Amino acid sequence: MRLLAMALTVAVLGGTGEARQPAAGRPMLVIHGGAGTITRGSMTAEREKEYRAALEASLRAGHAVLARGGSSLDAVEASVRILEDHPLFNAGKGAVFTHEGRNELDASIMDGRTMRAGSVAGVTIIRNPISAARAVMERSKHVMMAGRGAELFATKMGLEVVDPSYFWTESRWKSLQRQLLRDAEQQPPRTEGLPGEGTKFGTVGAVAVDREGNLAAATSTGGMTNKQFGRVGDSPIIGAGTYAANESCAVSGTGHGEFFIRWTVSYDIAALMKYRGLSVQQAADEVINRKLKGVGGEGGVIAVDGKGNIAMPFNTEGMYRGWIGPDGVPHVAIYRD
Ligand code: ASP
Repeated sequence: MRLLAMALTVAVLGGTGEARQPAAGRPMLVIHGGAGTITRGSMTAEREKEYRAALEASLRAGHAVLARGGSSLDAVEASVRILEDHPLFNAGKGAVFTHEGRNELDASIMDGRTMRAGSVAGVTIIRNPISAARAVMERSKHVMMAGRGAELFATKMGLEVVDPSYFWTESRWKSLQRQLLRDAEQQPPRTEGLPGEGTKFGTVGAVAVDREGNLAAATSTGGMTNKQFGRVGDSPIIGAGTYAANESCAVSGTGHGEFFIRWTVSYDIAALMKYRGLSVQQAADEVINRKLKGVGGEGGVIAVDGKGNIAMPFNTEGMYRGWIGPDGVPHVAIYRD
């Protein structure tokens, strides 16, 4: 079984070109900007440059925190805030639209040192939901707050509040219109979009280990285009879209949230490490490329362990991702190979 998992890991590493991964070492930060039908053919040079620049900016922001001896928790929040403020990613500013033409955002954060966690779901006026999730974790007695209550809490905590129109972007609006048309014509969903957008999964996330060996994970999303009736995905659910425990790993996911919830993806990866002794790469591959793939659950994760070993498997055509280690050089990858 162990041998099989190892063979699988080697195959997957070869297939995704992630053999460029650095040797393990602390501190380490890994980010993602969503997985899906992301191919060279669907990307313009201009658009790819924008994605790369945004991912590098996010890596640098997180690394700056780690390099000055800051905590992994501060690093993942800093990285995710950069991606939330960027219109290309389905989180914060670039959030997708619900069926009713609203933007309802979800986010969560977890501290692997203390096992504390915080999350918000279905918020519409908080500029940076990841910071609201952190406020829930640190400044309330609760783990998860939803809707109006979460917004009241964040406002009371002094977080930046914006008019819902802040989240309106033309490309996301057009995506919704296309989806509504398809629904009316009863066509199956497709993943077309802007050049290089090419996907319905655009969640952002970050995982990190700091100098002390403490792990943290953060995830933020607008959810899925055309979601209905207050639908909440995996991103704000601890153990599904986000998980961190010093004894195993930190994980952030992107993909079809309903599958990530039912297969408790993030916790499952941690559990495989803890109870079966798998490495972070083996555990993440097992869940993404075997379990999820086997049931048609599309997506990917980023993960890091306490030594700075990282994994970034995905079972889609591409995943926006990047990592930065102690040398401070940002690495970004988009396609399968
Ligand atoms: N996982 C997110 C959700 O289901 C979507 C994404 O990754 O883009 O809400």
